[in-house]
Amino acid sequence: MNQRFWITCATRVALLLCLSPAAHALNIFACEPEWGSLLHELAPDKVTIDVATNALQDVHVIEAKPSLIAKVRRADLVVCSGADLEIGWLPQLIRQAGNSKVASGAGYFMAADQITTLEKVALLDRAAGDVHPQGNPHFQLDPYRVLAIAKALDARLVQLDAANAAVYQQKLADFTTRWQAAIKAWEAKAAPLKGRKVVVHHGSWIYLTQWLGMEQIGALEPKPGVPPTSAHLATLIDVTKSQHTLAIIRAAYQDPKPADWLADRTGVPAITLPYTVGGDAQAKDLFGLYDSTIDKLLGAIK
Ligand SMILES: [Zn+2]
Repeated sequence: MNQRFWITCATRVALLLCLSPAAHALNIFACEPEWGSLLHELAPDKVTIDVATNALQDVHVIEAKPSLIAKVRRADLVVCSGADLEIGWLPQLIRQAGNSKVASGAGYFMAADQITTLEKVALLDRAAGDVHPQGNPHFQLDPYRVLAIAKALDARLVQLDAANAAVYQQKLADFTTRWQAAIKAWEAKAAPLKGRKVVVHHGSWIYLTQWLGMEQIGALEPKPGVPPTSAHLATLIDVTKSQHTLAIIRAAYQDPKPADWLADRTGVPAITLPYTVGGDAQAKDLFGLYDSTIDKLLGAIK
């Protein structure tokens, strides 16, 4: 083989490397801001992350808009909470996008499938309200579950983008170190919250209260997903007053009026927690979300 052959060959290999699919960066569609934030921790900058919703929207009820369908159409991976949280819109988005890559298999990542959920119900009783049969899907405020999800998500990213495996592994290791240190700090800081009782708007806080040793003694919604009624709120006055309740908590996206109504009649403060990334100025990422949540709960202690 002559020299010219090798030069031609080397040029071709270089060309092939430049054009190879390994150079294609992933497009990822995240249903909620918390998973968008987690993806920013785990993925290199060239990965495109579209986040479908923001903290001021109720993710139980999102409109399957054409702009979202277009994002799902170009996605290599969808990352959502799962456990039926997005049942009203995600299946429709995937169907209308006609993108088989994200309909099932490696391109379909549901966080709920990576962890054990709380409040699983054996039998679905419609009379019980808008309950989630696969368990409560609002687990983004349990840092241990978030870490388990991060590990599973990182493995999925490696599977889909093997050329960048080392980057994903390095980023997971870095996130894990910072997250575990943060958990220790949060647990130490939140110690005064142990045993404290809260009334919640919707059942979105069970993982947070269980983690911090707090107790939920009532919900403003008469049944999950059913808006508060004045008759139901009236039944909460005595229990809220008599149990030395710390606070009535609602998410940034929820109507403030029901919690304010109960606060006025009980003297227990109503507080707005960010619930997810972007829910207040401090909750710029997952770390800020936890910082803000704990600070606001501690701020309610008199
Ligand atoms: Zn819910």
